[in-house]
Amino acid sequence: MTSVTYSSTRGGQKNLTFREVVMQGLAHDRGLFVPDSFPQVSSEELEAWRKLSYADLAVNVIAKFVHDDQVPRDKLEDIVKRSCAAFRSDEVTPIVHAGGIPVLELFHGPTFAFKDVALQMLGNFFEYFLETGSNGGRLAVLGATSGDTGSAAIYGLRGKKGIDCIILFPNGRVSPIQERQMTTVLDSNIHCVAVEGTFDDCQDIVKASFNTPAFREKVHLGAVNSINWCRVLAQTTYYFWSYLRITDKHPGAAVNFSVPTGNFGDVLAGFYTKQMGVPLGKLIVATNENDILHRFFTKGEYHREPIAKSISPSMDICVSSNFERYLFHLAGNQPDKLADWMQGFESTRKLDISGDLLKQAQSDFLSARADTAMTLDVIKEFQEKHDYLLCPHSAVGVSAIQQLGIVNEQTVSLATAHPGKFPAAVQRAVDPLPPPPEQLAKLESMDCRRSECPNDLKVVQAFVEERVFGNKQ
Ligand SMILES: *Cc1c(COP(=O)(O)O)cnc(C)c1O
Repeated sequence: MTSVTYSSTRGGQKNLTFREVVMQGLAHDRGLFVPDSFPQVSSEELEAWRKLSYADLAVNVIAKFVHDDQVPRDKLEDIVKRSCAAFRSDEVTPIVHAGGIPVLELFHGPTFAFKDVALQMLGNFFEYFLETGSNGGRLAVLGATSGDTGSAAIYGLRGKKGIDCIILFPNGRVSPIQERQMTTVLDSNIHCVAVEGTFDDCQDIVKASFNTPAFREKVHLGAVNSINWCRVLAQTTYYFWSYLRITDKHPGAAVNFSVPTGNFGDVLAGFYTKQMGVPLGKLIVATNENDILHRFFTKGEYHREPIAKSISPSMDICVSSNFERYLFHLAGNQPDKLADWMQGFESTRKLDISGDLLKQAQSDFLSARADTAMTLDVIKEFQEKHDYLLCPHSAVGVSAIQQLGIVNEQTVSLATAHPGKFPAAVQRAVDPLPPPPEQLAKLESMDCRRSECPNDLKVVQAFVEERVFGNKQ
C-alpha cells in the first residue's frame, strides 16, 4: 500500500510524499500542504485501539498516513516510541478531572507546553529522513518564536545529526522563562537569535528566507513553525486518545473539545481526526483578545487586526498560519478558489464568508473569546474551588466551555502549558503561587548562550550561512 500524498492548498505543487512535505515545510507557492485524502478509521478499529498505550495508539494513527513506502514499520515504531518516551507521564497526555470537566494535560514534555508533542516527533522524522538521503543529509531549520515554539523546537532538534537549528525571537518580548528555556540549551547545533523587533518581524524574516530560492536551496532550509504537516499529524493522536478515554466511561458519547487557539494547528488536528471518521462532537475554538478566529466563526469575518499583547502570549497572533488549511477544505478543496481568497486577503486584509459557507463553518466549529479578566477569573475559580491550577492559555479554553454552557464530563478542555511557565500572569489570580517544577526553577542558574541581530533579512541570512558552512565557504 502506498501512503497518502499531499498537495499545496494553492495548487502549485501536487502529489508529494510524506517525506517531501515534512522536509519542505511550506509549499513553494506559499500554500500549505494538505493530504489528498483522509484515511478512514472504522468503529471496529477504534474499539480495538481502546486497549493500546498512548505510544502504541500513536503508531497506529500515524501509520494510517505513513506506510512502509515512506518509513518502514519498525522504524516508524522506533520514531514514535522515542518521541513519546520524552514525556514525564506514561500516558504522555493524561486526563485529569477538575471543575466538572476532563482536562487533557498536554504539558508533560521537556518544555512544559503542548508543542513538545509535535516537535519531539518532527525532530525524529527529520533525523531519519536525513540519515536516509534527503537533502544530502543536511538541514538548516529556521524558525520564529514568540515563546513556546522555539524551546519545543530546540528540545526536539538538539544534538540531532545533520541539523542546524536557528531560532529567532523578538528581543525583550518573550518571557524570561521562555527565553531561558531556549538559551540554556548549549548543544552546538542550536542557535538562539534575539532580533531587534517584534514577533511578526521575526516571522517575516523566516517567510522571506523561504521565498528566496537561492538562499533556501543553498542552506537546505526547513521549517518547524506550526505549518509543518508532521506537527498537525502528531497532534491527532491525543484526540483519538481522549475520545477513547472519555468513551471508556461514557460509551457512545459525542466528545467535545475546547482548544486554546492561536495558529489553528492544535484544533485543526481535531478537525482532521473527525475527517478520519472518529465521531467527535463539537470543536471549540477558544481565543484571547486576538480573536480573528472567533470573529470568523461568529460573523464570517476574517479581518486582520493589529496584535494585542495578552496574558496568553502563545495565542497572540493577527493571522492564523494554519487556518489556510481549513479554508481550503471550506472552499471545497479547490486550490483556485482558495488561492483567490488568499490573494484577496493578502491585499485587503479581509476575507468574508456568508450564507451556506458560514453555516458549514459553524457546524464544524463553535467559538468563544476570553479577555484578560475572564481568564484570570477562571484561574482563580479553579484554584480556589477545585484545587487545580491552570495556565493562562488553558484557562481561555475552560472559559470558552463555561461561556458556551457545556460544562460536562464529555467536553474535554485542552491544557496547553504548565502554569509554572507563566508565573507573572498566574500570580495576578493566585497569590502566593505554588513552587514551580524543579526543571523550571533551576533555569535561572544555568549557563546560557544567545546571539543578537538587527531586524534585517540580509544580516540574518548571513548569520545562518555562517552557522551552516562555518569557515568552509
Ligand atoms: C502554541 C500554543 C497555543 C496555540 O496553539 P495553536 O496550534 O497555535 O493554535 C496555545 N497554548 C500554548 C501554551 C501554546 O504554546
